[in-house]
Amino acid sequence: MDKTEKKLAVWICKGCDIGESLDVEALEKVASDEYKVELCGSHEFLCGDEGVGQIKEQIKEGVNALVIAGCSPRFQTDTFTFDGCLTERANLREFVVWSHEPNAEDTQMMAEDYLRMGIVRAQKSELPEPFEAEIDKTILVVGGGQSGMTAALESAKAGYDVVIIEKQDQLGGWLAKTTRLFPKKPPYKDVEIVDLEARVKEIEENDRITVHTSATIASINGGPGMFDVSLDANGNGAGSQFRVGSIVQATGWKPYDPDNLGHLGYGNCANVITNVQMEEMAAAGEIRRPSDGKSPKKIVFVQCAGSRDKDHLPYCSAVCCRVSLKQAMWARELDSEAEVFVLYKDIRAPGQYEDYYKAAQDDPGIFFTKGEVVAVSNSSGDNLLVDVEDTLIDKHIQVEADLVVLATGMVPAAADGEAIRQFRDAQKVIAKGEEGAQLETAKVTVEEMAAYEGTEILNLNYRQGPDLPMLKYDFPDSHFICFPFESRRTGIYPAGTVRAPNDMDGCCEDATGAAIKAIQCVELATQGKAMHPRWGDQSYPDFFLQRCTQCKRCTEECPFGTINEDEKGTPDPTITRCRRCGICMGACPERIISFKDYSVEIISSMIKAVEVPDEYDEKPRLLGLLCENDAYPALDAAGFKRLQHSEWIRFIPVRCLGSVNIVWIADALAQGYDGIIMIGCKSGDDYQCHFIRGSELMGTRSGNIQEKLKQLALEDERVRVEQLEITDHERLVEVINEFSEEIDDIGMNPFKGL
Ligand code: SF4
Ligand code: SF4
Repeated sequence: MDKTEKKLAVWICKGCDIGESLDVEALEKVASDEYKVELCGSHEFLCGDEGVGQIKEQIKEGVNALVIAGCSPRFQTDTFTFDGCLTERANLREFVVWSHEPNAEDTQMMAEDYLRMGIVRAQKSELPEPFEAEIDKTILVVGGGQSGMTAALESAKAGYDVVIIEKQDQLGGWLAKTTRLFPKKPPYKDVEIVDLEARVKEIEENDRITVHTSATIASINGGPGMFDVSLDANGNGAGSQFRVGSIVQATGWKPYDPDNLGHLGYGNCANVITNVQMEEMAAAGEIRRPSDGKSPKKIVFVQCAGSRDKDHLPYCSAVCCRVSLKQAMWARELDSEAEVFVLYKDIRAPGQYEDYYKAAQDDPGIFFTKGEVVAVSNSSGDNLLVDVEDTLIDKHIQVEADLVVLATGMVPAAADGEAIRQFRDAQKVIAKGEEGAQLETAKVTVEEMAAYEGTEILNLNYRQGPDLPMLKYDFPDSHFICFPFESRRTGIYPAGTVRAPNDMDGCCEDATGAAIKAIQCVELATQGKAMHPRWGDQSYPDFFLQRCTQCKRCTEECPFGTINEDEKGTPDPTITRCRRCGICMGACPERIISFKDYSVEIISSMIKAVEVPDEYDEKPRLLGLLCENDAYPALDAAGFKRLQHSEWIRFIPVRCLGSVNIVWIADALAQGYDGIIMIGCKSGDDYQCHFIRGSELMGTRSGNIQEKLKQLALEDERVRVEQLEITDHERLVEVINEFSEEIDDIGMNPFKGL
């Protein structure tokens, strides 16, 4: 739709206290007189059938752009979405009448400003059109263990073609090395026997699933809907190439390296083994001491061996307690004369597994003792002595053993600790400025570099490196509460133990979740729409490359690796990777990146649309750039609670603080605003920022803003950046009001009216 063909209508809703709190006729005049909008009306209750019916009639008669001034755009979204019609919402309910004094002059001025901004936005925006590309809906599953097989079967059952790549010569992963699984059925005392054969057969007989065993990935190019995969020539898929739409990474786990557990006797005492070695022995039908092959009569399990330990794995591996319960009962089954001791920090047997724990406790040959194992050493001959502190009786005790089993934890099979260590060393070199340091390295963030130095499982052709980034504790998942299954690479979803420690059942659930995400991905790519978190967004960045200076800021700052570069350094975006955050738009100094409904020009025009009173009116004007993800809903929530915020401020939603282009700040100051506050999501390791680095980037860019303020001899306090969570609605109102008071104290912008 061309801007010149736009036929705009403005509707003002009088429901939800709006009609009683504002002069609606005066608002209509803003549209009709100031902006010459011919179709302008109000309705008692616009979201009802009659109101919506009237809008639909107008659309039939040629209206193709609407401004709905009423409730927040986060409400009645479906009601006010009309095919082929651009709709802007001016938030008069939560932001104005529910949070300000009714029928006050300042409340009316505020409402009029929100309406002005809505009209300008509608005038400047275009209706987004879906990104068109030929999309392949095949799902690639990397890893053929429990999670991989489940993801493949679930995707195939839903009607999608699947390719499994497994580096071993058979499917199964850890399931192939496990004979017994934890109980699944009441009374939760009897283990389940693994039937891998049946599971593999189900996969082999499914026409939708292709399996490549003994295969690894040589490279993956492209993006969601169009990932081009090349297999490694050594595999039985010998060098084949194919296209897939999305990827589930189910590469599993590896045991924590027991060589790090010398203090617990591993490597120093022949009869100290790991739970993985114990599993192998029990499955073989007999438990033997490595030193002399004798059947042990006193077996000690050391729980959390290296887990929940700041010097090793700080996290709980979720399954080791239950593995030890299983192995303890198994050992007793194999030798009823054997005594088993389980030395634990806490026994973690969630849900119905408490009954399984009780079953072990009921065995008179299994003894549980709480305490911290501090050392395992050889005593007489090949026998062992286990030192335990902080026991329930608050005493240091020693336990004798023939065999010690270390319940070691899980490490994601995506991490390469050595590579990370090397990277950290490299960082130190850079800091010291020693010769040979790669200066280029200094430009990338720690996490990007760690990703680059990763394990090269996926071998992605991405600027940020060949694999999913290793985040907290080396797991590649994004924020596990807000964005489960999401990784930092669009269309690639980790599942199972590569994502978080889990048991076999949990892996099945996890893999099903990841399969659903992979399916959503290919379906949305087919419709040309964005995936998480701007689900269904049809807009995407357009690069006016004739004016590009090849500065590489967009390519470096895009958190999702959307933008590669050609040999000259010109951005080369793969749009299906894009999450539509607008960070590239915020980064571009030439201001040549824009979306059809979100651009530097659109927001600048909105900033300029606000009526800024002159200095004699003693009505300061503040601009609030409010992140749509957490801050905007928080301010809506404050409105719901009727919390009052400063009448001087005007908010403009932004996709992410990272999308804020510095020119908006300059525009606002030139326009006479007295202060600018930018409110985004929390950054950091436990980040909430929906686009990973947006808030952090704004923190960095605000250094330039402070420079600018200095040049203009303006006070630093006039521009503030805040980070808040979605639940911080009370704090948000405090922040706004404090800022307003602070600006009032500083005084008016001296550039006002110039
Ligand atoms: S910065 Fe955001 S909007 Fe720009 S290309 Fe990257 S993901 Fe897309
Ligand atoms: S930020 Fe702008 S000028 Fe720089 S490379 Fe990207 S598009 Fe070109």
